[in-house]
Amino acid sequence: MSAATIAFRHLFGPGPTNTYPEASLALSRPLLGHLDPAFLAEMDHACEGLRRVWGTQNRRTLPLSATGSAGMEAAFVNTVHPGDVVVIGVNGLFGERMCDVAARCGADVVRVDFEWGQPVDAERLVTAHPHPRIIAAVHAETSTGVRSDIAALGAAKGDALLLVDAVTSIGGIELRADDWGIDVGYAGTQKCLGVAPGLAPFTINERAWQRRVAKPQSWYLDLGMLGGYVGEASGAKRTYHHTAPVAMVVSLAAALDRIGEEGLENVWARHQGAGDALQHGLQEMGLELFAADGYRLPELTTVKVPAGVDSARVRGYLLDRYDIEIGAGVKQFASSVWRIGLMGPNANPGSVALILAALKDAIDRA
Ligand code: PLP
Repeated sequence: MSAATIAFRHLFGPGPTNTYPEASLALSRPLLGHLDPAFLAEMDHACEGLRRVWGTQNRRTLPLSATGSAGMEAAFVNTVHPGDVVVIGVNGLFGERMCDVAARCGADVVRVDFEWGQPVDAERLVTAHPHPRIIAAVHAETSTGVRSDIAALGAAKGDALLLVDAVTSIGGIELRADDWGIDVGYAGTQKCLGVAPGLAPFTINERAWQRRVAKPQSWYLDLGMLGGYVGEASGAKRTYHHTAPVAMVVSLAAALDRIGEEGLENVWARHQGAGDALQHGLQEMGLELFAADGYRLPELTTVKVPAGVDSARVRGYLLDRYDIEIGAGVKQFASSVWRIGLMGPNANPGSVALILAALKDAIDRA
């Protein structure tokens, strides 16, 4: 099927969500030059909006021109000096990816594993090594649908820097970088922010900035060189670093405005309400949820594929018959778990009703 023949897909997977209409419309606006003052104002506006969804006053908060994984690279490459001890909580695929990235940056990685479907435990992380330079964890594990307690980690981090992945939490569930003691954080645009994939909202506080690597291995992700790109503090002189993806930044700014108009706490409540309703409905259908009770993400629900049901056939049926995409499980759970996202504009009662009815039909018929 060519892209042109696809009228509209309901993206209920763990990947790109459907975008907020304001973000889509902004993509169709005439392009601005990347150094046009009108664009620089949009960039300032996007950075201001990002501070709100991060829950931070950090001056150095910006959309990196890259995906969430590059945000992860930027976080580690700018903070890990060769041989630094980095304690990483692993309860899914993205914690594993953190270990790989940190090791490539020369870290002495202390990996602390948790069963998939369970949260990372702050106590185990902070006692894993007497003097870690960095403690890192994923706030919302997209591979398992689990939320971990970042505030508890921040309270117990001691002298270590706290580095957090907020790709699937930002703009969807409570996130308070400053109050929780997050020193370095990265995210993505494609989940609850309701923007296309391609930018990595990033934040770093003064404490982490003072300890950063003077000349990181990466030229492109060297935060020390990005100050001029975003004018560091609004109004500062802009210098060319790379050509900003102007359409994406303008789209992000529009989505952040929309979230601001709805009210961030209302947006969190909307995600919670949709997730609760979906999880309740799935259990009413006799299905079993995968993530541990009490730690389930509302924006990404993991559900066990019932015995005797072919996971791939159900997903194919949903796509063909309803134009609905849901995600498969990850790694060893590829055929035994489904992942259903209700992110950004999809976090609403209509989407819940649609996915529940369609999934029931698919399980009965596929
Ligand atoms: N971290 C988490 C928790 C994610 O869910 C993802 C992507 O799904 C990433 C990191 C990587 O982001 P990207 O795929 O945009 O590189």
